[in-house]
Amino acid sequence: MSTRFDPLPSTQPTADHIRDNILENPGFGRYFTDHMAHVRWTLDNGWHGHEVRPYGPLTLDPAAAVLHYGQEIFEGVKAYRHADGSVWTFRPEKNAERFRRSARRLALPELSDDDFIGSLKALLAQDHAWVPTPSSDADECSLYLRPFMIASEKFLGVRPSHEVDYYVIASPAAAYFKGGIEPVSIWLSTNYNRAAPGGTGFAKCGGNYAASLAAQKEAEAHGCGQVAFLDATENKWVEELGGMNLFFVFKDGRIVTPKLTGTILEGVTRDSVLTLAKDEGLTPEERHISIDEWRDGAASGEITEIFACGTAAVITPVGELVGENERIRLTAGGDNDIAKRLRTKLLDLQYGRSEDSRSWLT
Ligand code: PMP
Repeated sequence: MSTRFDPLPSTQPTADHIRDNILENPGFGRYFTDHMAHVRWTLDNGWHGHEVRPYGPLTLDPAAAVLHYGQEIFEGVKAYRHADGSVWTFRPEKNAERFRRSARRLALPELSDDDFIGSLKALLAQDHAWVPTPSSDADECSLYLRPFMIASEKFLGVRPSHEVDYYVIASPAAAYFKGGIEPVSIWLSTNYNRAAPGGTGFAKCGGNYAASLAAQKEAEAHGCGQVAFLDATENKWVEELGGMNLFFVFKDGRIVTPKLTGTILEGVTRDSVLTLAKDEGLTPEERHISIDEWRDGAASGEITEIFACGTAAVITPVGELVGENERIRLTAGGDNDIAKRLRTKLLDLQYGRSEDSRSWLT
């Protein structure tokens, strides 16, 4: 694996007692470690200058393309500390692959898997002390790694940037939703769509998230924590939440998730749930599911559980779907048994409490 990342140790690392204090109650995305990984790309020289350098503000020209045209992509990967003190990431090759897909869509240069995974390893080698130690099996703390790539060329013109910078920063994280496995309320967005055919829905680019914020504000105004988006063509098919994929559990053991059509982000957790569900004797299906099937299945008791999944929040049950003139609640279920079982399976793997038979840990 790549050892090309030259370390430039921070001259002012966070004092041990301050870091330990932060790690006791890190929240999510508020504190950052002492270093960041960096690789530069230019049209003439390709990728070069691999380094791990002290964390700090970037010097960016005000004309940098990313600030005007949003040519940017990112990823989200967690590092988990196991009971023996070792530090592991979960299926980072899937994130590396998605990062390359996102790069192609945003006309950014592709970063090799070696450099992607090498940059995570190089940053963790410097900042491993920032990976929190779980105090119990229920403590879902981790170090959240955020790789991202930006168009940094000083040039005002709409064309792919000739200069690009890739970074990885890291932020210690407690559980994403304070409520843990508490069901969340979801707002059904009918005024806004997240992605359209031929657009950037399958890519993890900042623009998708910027475009989701107005809907997120609507959700909050209605007391909801997340937004469910429908397809942009018919406003009929359920796609995903602003930052998580969706699963529907049926009475007969089927577990359905919207199929990938180019407008949905292909979640690493989604893929893992599809695999683990089979181990649990469930029948996974990737297909279209309409908002009417959600309504009818919830009312008839055919659908027994709905949950959302993603790296940040793992698996979170959906309590209700709130629309302009409706509230859809499940008449059946209520114990979220399958969501809980799958969640425990996933966490046990990630935290090294069960055997990693598929070699999902790096
Ligand atoms: N959909 C969207 C829009 C997301 O932002 C995320 C989070 N990356 C997901 C789904 C879940 O993906 P993953 O399981 O890889 O975190």
